[in-house]
Amino acid sequence: MANLNRRQFLQTLGLASAATAAAAFPGVIKAATGRPQVVVIGGGFAGATVAKYLRYWSNTVDVTLVEPNTTYYSPILSNLVLNNQRNLGQISFSYSTLAQKYGIQVIHDWVDSINAPNQSVQLRNGTTLNYDRLVIAPGIEFMDVPGLDSNKVPHAWKAGAQTTLLQQQLAAMPVGGSFVITIPATPYRCPPGPYERACVVADWLRTNKPGSKVTVLDANPAIVVEPTIFGNAFASYGVEYVPNAVLQSVDSDQRVAKTNLGDFKADVLNVIPPQQAGAIVLQSGLANVGGRWAGVNPLSYESTAVPNIHIIGDSQGTGQPKAGHIANAEAKVCADAILRLLSGSQPYAAPVTNSACYSPISASTASWLTAVYAYDQASGAMKLVPESFGAAAAPSSKNYSRMFDWTTNLFNDTFA
Ligand SMILES: Cc1cc2nc3c(=O)[nH]c(=O)nc-3n(C[C@H](O)[C@H](O)[C@H](O)COP(=O)(O)OP(=O)(O)OC[C@H]3O[C@@H](n4cnc5c(N)ncnc54)[C@H](O)[C@@H]3O)c2cc1C
Repeated sequence: MANLNRRQFLQTLGLASAATAAAAFPGVIKAATGRPQVVVIGGGFAGATVAKYLRYWSNTVDVTLVEPNTTYYSPILSNLVLNNQRNLGQISFSYSTLAQKYGIQVIHDWVDSINAPNQSVQLRNGTTLNYDRLVIAPGIEFMDVPGLDSNKVPHAWKAGAQTTLLQQQLAAMPVGGSFVITIPATPYRCPPGPYERACVVADWLRTNKPGSKVTVLDANPAIVVEPTIFGNAFASYGVEYVPNAVLQSVDSDQRVAKTNLGDFKADVLNVIPPQQAGAIVLQSGLANVGGRWAGVNPLSYESTAVPNIHIIGDSQGTGQPKAGHIANAEAKVCADAILRLLSGSQPYAAPVTNSACYSPISASTASWLTAVYAYDQASGAMKLVPESFGAAAAPSSKNYSRMFDWTTNLFNDTFA
């Protein structure tokens, strides 16, 4: 069966879903045509982009995207749900465009395991997918914090129900209450994100819960990015900033953060736990950078532990920031490399990626930060290009409005 016909056949039967696909091809879904098969695990900024660009740049590969959720909630802009400047619906995305416009087979399920010697993955519904190339983009997994129950003490570091829970807790917080946020040691997802959240919440509390106090417990010795902007904002909001405060455990019922510097009790406690690569990376023996992140060759994002497997986004361990904009860039480098490898040539030898973060500082102002990374042949690593580094001089309303232009572009480049 020609691939187009196979895809049309799948679409005729409504086979975008795993259940029906498995019914038509019981057991193993494999290439009927001999065309290369690429399976992508995870449909966030990294996984959705690589799936899209593999098909955008080539109609000779079949791409299957496996993602359990039918709706993706962007962590980017999710702090604006906390101060009611955005709702979750405005930062949610479906996978229908990827399926319909780019011919990606989208299966809503978990990948439970990878059989690298057989080049196949096992889905929770029992289906096996064979691959020529596998891309893993599962984001982050939280590390254990003794006593932490995220149903009582939200992290809101993966957007969706957790964002709503934290927003509801803030809305119910007493006037003159206390909000405490904990920041893990680097590396973690979105370096400016926790400081941004502290600012947005402090600004919102000023008018909605006057007399309330915000305390930032930072495991790092100092604010890790944009220290002047965030430091000035903390001073103007009266935020208490505590460096070197390493979280040891949590009393989730009493909302107490227990640190090396003592106990901090809160009316609303927001614990952002330490992070590592997604579980599927760790359980597949791919976390060979400090036992937490996946070592990859930045020319192709192919694992340094297992061939034919590529890891992109927050799970990769190249030293590039764990952020959505650069995950989108890594995905394009990876897609290009996979297409070259599948056609018998070598990955492009001088890839460049770009990171960008806009941080709301209040309900009407924002700052920004950007940097370019380039492949360094001598070390085989991605290196920050020093002269590319840029940051806002001060928060402004112009930055705030440009933030939405930036996110519209990023969201469209990933999901549309
Ligand atoms: C408050 C906040 C603000 C932020 N602001 C910015 C910003 O301004 N700029 C910026 O660049 N970044 C920002 N980020 C960071 C950005 O959101 C993340 O870096 C980005 O989402 C990482 O993309 P990813 O695809 O690696 O992971 P994710 O977006 O987490 O996607 C991973 C996907 O994989 C799926 N998955 C996991 N395991 C499996 C499995 N076994 N099988 C199938 N699917 C699986 C998950 O369901 C998930 O949908 C922010 C983050 C936060 C929390």
